[in-house]
Parts: sequence; C-alpha cells; structure tokens
Amino acid sequence: HPIELVDFCTRAVDQMKVTTSDRHHIRLIAHTDKISALMDSQLLRQILNNLFSNAIKYSPQGGEITLELSTESEPVSPHIHQPSSLVVFRIKDPGIGIPQQDLQQLFESFQRATNVGSIRGTGLGLAIVKKCVELHGGHIEIESEIARGSTFIVKIPLQTPSYEVMLAEI
Ligand code: ATP
Ligand code: MG
Repeated sequence: HPIELVDFCTRAVDQMKVTTSDRHHIRLIAHTDKISALMDSQLLRQILNNLFSNAIKYSPQGGEITLELSTESEPVSPHIHQPSSLVVFRIKDPGIGIPQQDLQQLFESFQRATNVGSIRGTGLGLAIVKKCVELHGGHIEIESEIARGSTFIVKIPLQTPSYEVMLAEI
C-alpha cells in the first residue's frame, strides 16, 4: 500500500538525529506537500539509512547533512507534461567527497573509493541501495567534489507499482 513520503522522511531524519547524538546536524527540506507513493517501506528505509550512514561516516563532526525531497515531471513529449511523475531524494553532505575516477565502481559490492584513509567499511551499503532503488524502477546518481562533499540523488517513478512484480522475481 502507498506510503506518505514527507512523514516517512521526517521520521527517518528524527531517528538518524537520535543515532548521531548531535555529532552531525541532519535536516529535512521538503519542497512538496504530502506525496503518496507505492514504495516498499523497508526498502526505502534501507536506502535512506545507508545513504545517511555514509553521509555521517564520511563527513566531519558538526557537518550539516540534508535530505531534500521534491517531485519532478518527466516530459512525455515536448507537448505533454505529466504532473509529478518522479519523486527525488537528495542526500547531501559536506564530507571528504569522491574522486571522479572512483564514481563508476562504487555501486558494486566491496568497492571503496581511494580516499577513505582509515575510515572503515565493507563496501556493501551502496550496492544494497542501488538494488533497492532499481526494484522501484528508479535510478541513483552521485555529484561529488573532493574535500567539498557529495550529493546522492535518487529518482523513483511515482506511477510504478511494479516493485512487487520485481520482488517476486528475486
Ligand atoms: P558499508 O558496507 O559499511 O556501508 P562502505 O561505507 O565503505 O561500507 P558503501 O556504503 O557501499 O561502503 O560505499 C562505498 C564507498 O563509496 C565508500 O567506501 C566510500 O569510499 C564511498 N562513499 C560512499 N558514500 C560516501 C560519502 N557520502 N562521501 C564520501 N565517500 C562516500
Ligand atoms: Mg556505507
């Protein structure tokens, strides 16, 4: 059944705030009214938790991490515009950033960037995130600048209740 994303993200952010106990500031910026989406709440939780945990792990103490929630409409043709056909989650951090040449492989299991230094990790989080996004027919991309920060952008089509079909295929 559908979940309401503004409430869902508010709760996810509130829980993350408790987890980080003031070492980082986490904020939700909702550019939309309530959006109901046919998403699997456990998979969405996996997506947000993994992206938040990375944002926290790869950013300095006191840094501000934001989750921006918005909708977009994909033009079907130059003349026909559907109302809000995509929901967009942007998780932004002021962290170490990712070298351009490492971006491609990061969604594969056990791949880590070359600038992680002594920060520990297994390299599985983003592989899980990508799987969860694709199960909803969506996609994920990264914008990042070394030593400035990273933004993970997840786009999920709102009119695709197909994840149930895809889940059945696993
Ligand atoms: P874990 O399996 O515990 O999540 P991990 O964090 O190393 O380990 P992923 O979450 O898959 O693994 O991330 C893969 C790699 O991508 C990381 O090791 C790191 O190099 C890079 N990375 C991911 N998120 C960020 C981020 N927000 N800022 C900088 N680098 C990141
Ligand atoms: Mg991780």
